[in-house]
Amino acid sequence: MTNPRELDVASLTVWGGEEHYLLDRATQVPVVHSVAFGYPDFEEWYDVATGAAEGHIYGRNTNPTVAVFEEKVRLLEGGEAATSASTGMAAISNMLHALLRPGNRVVSVKDTYGGTSLLFTEFLPAFGIHCELIDTTDTDAIEAAVASGCDLLYLETPTNPTLKVLDLRRLIAAGHAVGATVVVDNTFATPVNQLPISLGADLVVHSATKFLGGHADALGGVVVGREDLVKKVYEYREINGATLDPMAAYLLLRGMKTLQLRVERQAANAMAVATFLESHPKVTAVNYPGLVSHPQHEVAAGQMTGFGGMLSFAIDGGLEAVRRFLPHLRLAHRAANLGAVETTVGPPATTSHVECSPEERAALGIPEGLVRYSAGVEHIDDLLADLAQALDAT
Ligand SMILES: *Cc1c(COP(=O)(O)O)cnc(C)c1O
Repeated sequence: MTNPRELDVASLTVWGGEEHYLLDRATQVPVVHSVAFGYPDFEEWYDVATGAAEGHIYGRNTNPTVAVFEEKVRLLEGGEAATSASTGMAAISNMLHALLRPGNRVVSVKDTYGGTSLLFTEFLPAFGIHCELIDTTDTDAIEAAVASGCDLLYLETPTNPTLKVLDLRRLIAAGHAVGATVVVDNTFATPVNQLPISLGADLVVHSATKFLGGHADALGGVVVGREDLVKKVYEYREINGATLDPMAAYLLLRGMKTLQLRVERQAANAMAVATFLESHPKVTAVNYPGLVSHPQHEVAAGQMTGFGGMLSFAIDGGLEAVRRFLPHLRLAHRAANLGAVETTVGPPATTSHVECSPEERAALGIPEGLVRYSAGVEHIDDLLADLAQALDAT
């Protein structure tokens, strides 16, 4: 895959978007805790307020620290424009509410993030928006659903928590053939490993809470891509009020400085962990796109430059075995998060699909006895030893 960015991703994570906002020769971006921005000159105030000149008016709309965060993600994803939100779900729901109208048809897949899935099954239908969720691995069926009419095609790859991989080139082409807006949740892959916009996607969304921030200390979301679409999302979010806080924006920015380093190590750790688990007698299944045994390994290799830090696996004995296994791990938070520097584990019922009932999880094809594993940046020998002793004790 060619790199459409001017600088390498490692350089952009460090330098991207910051220059304009450095203050009084500071080398670091300031956290601007200011609700409003003052203009002694009425003409200047008027120009900024009406959009004729650049600047900030009110903190619900824009903020300098938040603007640097948006610009850095925009550069990393190679999009025309970016706008942010208070969480990943705020970014996704604002985007959908801003772009969809009653009578519109959305096509997506069964394996989207639990919260996103509930938007499609519960909240959007209440506004007269038809959402059709197709089997994630049945590319022909997704194409057929799109061909029969689609205003917005929503994709997520790799998926959470079963790590299924969608063929982005094929599906983006299918969406554009019927004039649909194509959106990709790139949270799992990160712009280090996958660039949906370079493959033709109109918009990319992120839970910046995860890999972008990487330190499990700040919530945030972002929408990147076509300027006309991002503008609509911004105009809705500005009124909806789900604004990213400047302190959170700063923490996310600080985290992003090491995005490439972290993701590279997390992917190497995930690959080694997946390989180890695949040959362990107590492990019945391992889902990781980097494994040759992964059903969509070839597709993943064709659209990703690395396979990411996420995997999931099943232990012999189902949910009961998971219940026994988890307390034995020493180097893992048992928490509903992922993408952090610490290894983090949990079953779907308490993590990705905590918002869903057991019946809803079953309908989405999410096994209760799965363990989602977000590889941290620890030394791989320690992670493997920890898994080995925990499996032995199970
Ligand atoms: C966590 C997550 C979200 C939601 O993000 P929040 O920041 O928790 O609101 C959306 N998509 C994916 C793939 C996620 O992992």
